[in-house]
Amino acid sequence: MTEINGKIVSAALKDKIAQEVKENGYTPGLAVIIVGDDPASRVYVNNKKKACAYCGFYSEEYALAADTTQQELIALVEKLNQDDRIDGILCQLPLPAHLDEKAVIEAISPAKDVDAFCEADVGKVMIGNYTFSPCTPAGVMELLQYYNIDVSGKNAVVIGRSNIVGKPMAMLLLHADATVTLCHSKTKNLKEICRSADILVSAVGKIDAVTADMVKDGAVVIDVGINRNAQGKLQGDVDFESVKQKASYITPVPGGVGPMTIAVLMQNTLTAYKANKKIK
Ligand code: NDP
Repeated sequence: MTEINGKIVSAALKDKIAQEVKENGYTPGLAVIIVGDDPASRVYVNNKKKACAYCGFYSEEYALAADTTQQELIALVEKLNQDDRIDGILCQLPLPAHLDEKAVIEAISPAKDVDAFCEADVGKVMIGNYTFSPCTPAGVMELLQYYNIDVSGKNAVVIGRSNIVGKPMAMLLLHADATVTLCHSKTKNLKEICRSADILVSAVGKIDAVTADMVKDGAVVIDVGINRNAQGKLQGDVDFESVKQKASYITPVPGGVGPMTIAVLMQNTLTAYKANKKIK
């Protein structure tokens, strides 16, 4: 069994980005908006700012009060859409309940939608012709590639069908020629379907969503889930200790998929910068 190390792979990707930025004197700019004081969101935003500094990017943070109105938030997005120093805009989700997430995402200029959350970007991923990679699924594909895990012709099972993880994950695996099954909370015979997987990706958001009896011997197991256990520690969806006895490759949580999401976000911001500045 090989434990996939997302810290190493993400550092390699960020190093490549940092080198390109330094060598060419680029100044990609990312604006991160956070509304309210959700502790998990704060950690994610801090990590994104750190990654910007590491890659040599310019970054701005907008920490808005929890009672910020929809109009104020949209006005900020529209101001950033016009700001030449800013190539990518991301609004950390979830937003407080009184705000309309979909409207905020759609207000971000498509040229600056580095999270690739807007409807047009999600649709382009389906066609396979996209500018911005869906960050988490593309991060998973980077991990598979780094470890020379062949996807073509393999049975891939994805659990979870959200627009930001499960669905685009299934599409990227399909584009890489896997035979893909997409499961969700209404799936019947989940265990049997998972046991057919050469590559099993869990994006559920529940501790122990994947147990050893759901995993085929030698399967590649990718855990996207980020949960807090009773002790307040980060834990994935996969029962790591028992599943690692059966898997050929497995991602830990933390230190697996999580760091990759941010590295792909940096890559998307560099892509946005080059497109905005018309650099080939
Ligand atoms: P969502 O809550 O939007 O989606 C969860 C999916 O899991 C749904 O499709 C749901 O099915 C399905 N599901 C729920 N319970 C079951 C079950 N018992 N059996 C099978 N399927 C089930 O979550 P996200 O996609 O946004 O995120 C998933 C996880 O990944 C979370 O833990 C999140 O924190 C994490 N995450 C990690 C990232 C990273 O960088 N590592 C980035 C983004 C997310 P249905 O559609 O039927 O309700």
